[in-house]
Amino acid sequence: MAKYATDVAIVGAGPSGLFMVFEAGFLGYKAVVLDALPQIGGQLAALYPEKPIYDVPAHPAILAGQLVEQLHTQAAPYGPEYLLGEPVLGLEGSAGHFTLFTASHEVSAKVVVVAGGGGMFTPRKPTQLQNLAEYEHTGAVRYAVTDKKSLAGHDVVLAGGGDSAVDWAVELAHIARHVHVMHRRADFRAADETVRQMKELEKAGKITLHTPYQLAELVGGGGVLETVVVEDLDGGKREIAASHVVCCFGLAPNAGPLGEWGLGWDKGLIKVDRATMQTQREGVLCIGDMADYEGKVALILTGFAEAAVAAKRVQGVINPERKFKVQYSTSKGVPGVG
Ligand SMILES: Cc1cc2nc3c(=O)[nH]c(=O)nc-3n(C[C@H](O)[C@H](O)[C@H](O)COP(=O)(O)OP(=O)(O)OC[C@H]3O[C@@H](n4cnc5c(N)ncnc54)[C@H](O)[C@@H]3O)c2cc1C
Repeated sequence: MAKYATDVAIVGAGPSGLFMVFEAGFLGYKAVVLDALPQIGGQLAALYPEKPIYDVPAHPAILAGQLVEQLHTQAAPYGPEYLLGEPVLGLEGSAGHFTLFTASHEVSAKVVVVAGGGGMFTPRKPTQLQNLAEYEHTGAVRYAVTDKKSLAGHDVVLAGGGDSAVDWAVELAHIARHVHVMHRRADFRAADETVRQMKELEKAGKITLHTPYQLAELVGGGGVLETVVVEDLDGGKREIAASHVVCCFGLAPNAGPLGEWGLGWDKGLIKVDRATMQTQREGVLCIGDMADYEGKVALILTGFAEAAVAAKRVQGVINPERKFKVQYSTSKGVPGVG
């Protein structure tokens, strides 16, 4: 069991957790960041690294993967330790003396910041398909598009009816040979504008819509997919020639152990005091999508601002004798930068 000691342990390496490293570091506190995923970036890296984001201040458009890289670079001067690929399983102790456990790490920290976003999410799978694992293994069946170029020139089935499915249908229609969108309902639960774009692309012959249908069978061999069989609610079948299926059925909520830590957990969210980002357990703060309060807007930029508020609380817990004073980065600078 490898042991680490730090000021702040951050659970979750999504955008909120990464910016928390900067904000804590700016006030002089060291951080260890833990994430169940093998890479940093949270949802941005796992679900949409190649999609442009348009509402991060001062970036008219930035690819999600690039934003993660920039956050990583911005945090680097403060020398965080990243412990990736293992879920945090346990939390013991109290403010000033916490210990967090993963299967192979033990981290003692004075303050814990939970930046768990949507939780330890795992994609919902079409488990009715018997030979699913064979096609998952070769990437013929996927749950996220992490490398859209690999789908260039292919016939792709996009399964699902939410924002993710419709966004990707529109995006891939410009790259794939043809995109088939398959949804079990006639209506799509996605932004009106993106649904409109998808229907335009259908008229242009780039996309074919199959509704209401669901996945019935994968036909091929050795992990190479040739045909996707879909069926309607009466069992009527349709065969689609395709080499790839991207399943966008959402993420199965997986709270992990966070609900058992006495934080004020309620259906995947943690109630916090908005003035401090403090949870019900003294010394454990929560920021980002997982933090809940009246009027919360769950966006990336919200998590950034919450990290600044939480950093103030970090100082309050670790150095209560120190009066908090807002410091400008333009005056104070950042080690080794500029
Ligand atoms: C397709 C799509 C498009 C989007 N577009 C935009 C957009 O344009 N603009 C915008 O502002 N937002 C957008 N969002 C939302 C945005 O991605 C989230 O608001 C953001 O990711 C929240 O960041 P976070 O750091 O709070 O959490 P997350 O990004 O969810 O990261 C949380 C991390 O915590 C880890 N974790 C949780 N529990 C544990 C545990 N017990 N142990 C170890 N690790 C744990 C998870 O593995 C995860 O990596 C989009 C989301 C999706 C799905």
